[in-house]
Amino acid sequence: MLGMNESSSSAQCRELSLSSGGNHKRNSFYATGEKLGCLLLKQLPDALHVGHYTPLIVPREQFEIELPMPVKRYDRNGNLIVEPAILRRVCDGDLSVTQWRKELVIDIDITDFVRFCQCDGMKRFCTTCWAHIEGSYLFLRHFLITVYGYREENILWVFSGCKGVHCLVNSSLALTLSEEQRKTLHSWLHIANGDDKAMDVFIRKLITEGETEFVTQIEEFFENRVVNQCAIIQLEPFVRFALAQIARLSPSFVSLVANAWHSNTVLDDPTCSQSESFLGERGQSLLKWRYLKNLEGDQRSIGSRNNLNALSIKASTFIAFRFLYPMIDAGPMQFKHLAKAPFSVHHTTNMIALPIRGETILDFAPQFHAINLSQLTDNRLSNHATILERFSDAVSLMSHWIDHYNS
Ligand SMILES: [Zn+2]
Repeated sequence: MLGMNESSSSAQCRELSLSSGGNHKRNSFYATGEKLGCLLLKQLPDALHVGHYTPLIVPREQFEIELPMPVKRYDRNGNLIVEPAILRRVCDGDLSVTQWRKELVIDIDITDFVRFCQCDGMKRFCTTCWAHIEGSYLFLRHFLITVYGYREENILWVFSGCKGVHCLVNSSLALTLSEEQRKTLHSWLHIANGDDKAMDVFIRKLITEGETEFVTQIEEFFENRVVNQCAIIQLEPFVRFALAQIARLSPSFVSLVANAWHSNTVLDDPTCSQSESFLGERGQSLLKWRYLKNLEGDQRSIGSRNNLNALSIKASTFIAFRFLYPMIDAGPMQFKHLAKAPFSVHHTTNMIALPIRGETILDFAPQFHAINLSQLTDNRLSNHATILERFSDAVSLMSHWIDHYNS
């Protein structure tokens, strides 16, 4: 990963920063692995941050980079835009270009989301907070693999060691994306909090382009993981957010939903034989959600008889997408940003930035599954064997990913 063992023709070193206690120094370059090894032993840093490879001058013809396919998108006004497949960055004179290389790095952090649990605005997080990260994984996987054509073996998911995940892509295409392309990619992926119109456009695009399977996956995941397991509709801040969206997208039944959700009339439904106490928070949350979905289903069947609503967005779909859509920081995608290397130790939590299998993000509770440095080194712990196994699995994931550099 550090690019120090490559063949002589392409040997480059990278900007690295060894840090301790959260302090790091920029603009250090180490030409050989040996020199870096000596320094690591001398300084014993707790984290390593990795920047770009030193720029190369390459002939122009080697620098044409092709995105996997032209990308269709809609602008804020709903106009279709087709982005070209080839974007070039050429220096003056056209004879050579300066090529910068760095993995595509996407950083997802819980604190960037609007949270509806009691953690909002605080540094702590709970399993409801983690659901934002799980949703982000589903979206990013869809974008990277299905839309942009990156391969699974070129993608490494890393628990950040604190409150999020990093996604690193190391294919030759990803490594050679220009700064402009990275900015463009970020502008395609980013939907700011509160930008309801952009989210509407995005959902409508998925539906009109036949991506209904993915839309259904997100809706089902939200119902199972967030509505049921997190009992989200029992949380007043979420109810306020959801009712505002229902008022915007389905104004005709917002008062019905508001009454049902606040007065628990859904639970008085005679067809429901479960008692309120038996249902618990999760059951009540689920019944309230299904009440909304049933209203939407009725409205849709009336609409289809009248040939209406073909392109309307269901409030339930919007709410699920807004909750689970990734908040992507533009900084880490750029060349100048140093990314924390896997296996670095977080300076406040003492947890290791652990490579994890993508699908385990959906079932990963950092409080229970992450590893901190003392757990790794304390062989008196009763679960030490499990911890070592987990660590060795992380090492294998990283090795497998390194094997696919530039592929
Ligand atoms: Zn929380």
